[in-house]
Amino acid sequence: MMLRKAVRYRLETTPEQEHLLSRAVGCVRFVWNRALAIQKSYLEHGCGILSYVDLAKCLTTWRNGESFGFLSESPVHPQQWALKFLDRAFKDAFDKKNPKRFPVFKKKGLHDSMRYPDPEQIKIDLKPQDADGRRLLPKIFLPRIGWVKFRKSCIIGGEIRNVTVSRSGGHWTVAIQTEKEIPDPVHPSTTAVGGDRGVANLLTLSDGTMFLPVTAYRDLQNRLAREQRKLAHKVKFSANWKQQKAKITRLHQRIAEIRKTVLHQVSTAISKNHAVVVLEDLKVRNMTGSARGTVEQPGRNVRQKSGLNKSILDQGWGMLKQMLGYKLQWAGGMLLLVDPAYTSQICPVCGVVDAGNRKTQAEFHCLHCGHEAHADVNAARNILARGLQSTAGHAGVACFAA
Ligand SMILES: [Zn+2]
Repeated sequence: MMLRKAVRYRLETTPEQEHLLSRAVGCVRFVWNRALAIQKSYLEHGCGILSYVDLAKCLTTWRNGESFGFLSESPVHPQQWALKFLDRAFKDAFDKKNPKRFPVFKKKGLHDSMRYPDPEQIKIDLKPQDADGRRLLPKIFLPRIGWVKFRKSCIIGGEIRNVTVSRSGGHWTVAIQTEKEIPDPVHPSTTAVGGDRGVANLLTLSDGTMFLPVTAYRDLQNRLAREQRKLAHKVKFSANWKQQKAKITRLHQRIAEIRKTVLHQVSTAISKNHAVVVLEDLKVRNMTGSARGTVEQPGRNVRQKSGLNKSILDQGWGMLKQMLGYKLQWAGGMLLLVDPAYTSQICPVCGVVDAGNRKTQAEFHCLHCGHEAHADVNAARNILARGLQSTAGHAGVACFAA
């Protein structure tokens, strides 16, 4: 099995390097936005969009021309990669089966990042020494930026695939993606479990285990709102405004960190204990995007729904699914996704589907046979049953329902 992992380190940049990095990510943003504008105008005029090869040719012209010659002062590979990524985003957006969000323009200061796709160009010196033989911080060589020191917090295992440099909350980090070939792992457990992702609980398993919701956002929400009100009273782009803005960014970051830590704990525990995990194949974006609706079709129950949206995003469902996916794969298990239709309304005893079966958020009571259970556990059991059904007859899946 090919094991792909990423490690992230904090860069110890000099002011000069910060300037170079800011300029380089600015160029990447410029290339993305300009190429996106071109593609959009092509679409508006009813022509097909340009291919990656055509866009790359445009980039060469820009870099060699006068108007956008500043692009040539920054590394070219990350700029080409932005075009490749845009090309990919368009393909995903026009995917008939599972269309993704249409690519959007990038804003300054928001997700500032660039990727070096070619590992050949990257060098890493893990044990540099000064003239007197004293150990220095490890450093990484980034084309057009130079040798940048970093804080090595964990080991880099495997061959480097690519490197991404990004800015968040006032400092720069580098993410190094690696891969290495390892023998196929065998999962120590043989159990399968279904999971119901809910609002009251983050996740309820078919064996009755419940993981509490991640309320990091809600806990810090009042504070965030207060700080945001303060921001609104400040003169835009003034020194005070910038300071306040940075404070809000840090608050957002803290919330994201807490959420991520909790999701890591939950996904590690589940992937260690169970070889197969079945979840609903929910399209989180569809569920969270619909509250307000459009001018022609205003959304219903906007207030309740936006409350639900907030808790769905709070939970970081997409992230949990992703973490479970790769952790199970590393451990030799698997994640199964099943159709979510009616999993909360089916009675596992008699099989009758009735919206009235789910009496309240927590109670399941079958109107037909009288079966009673915790509503989320019940849903998780239905999800598990559906998952096992879908794999019935497949070789290599022999599990016991937990
Ligand atoms: Zn029943």
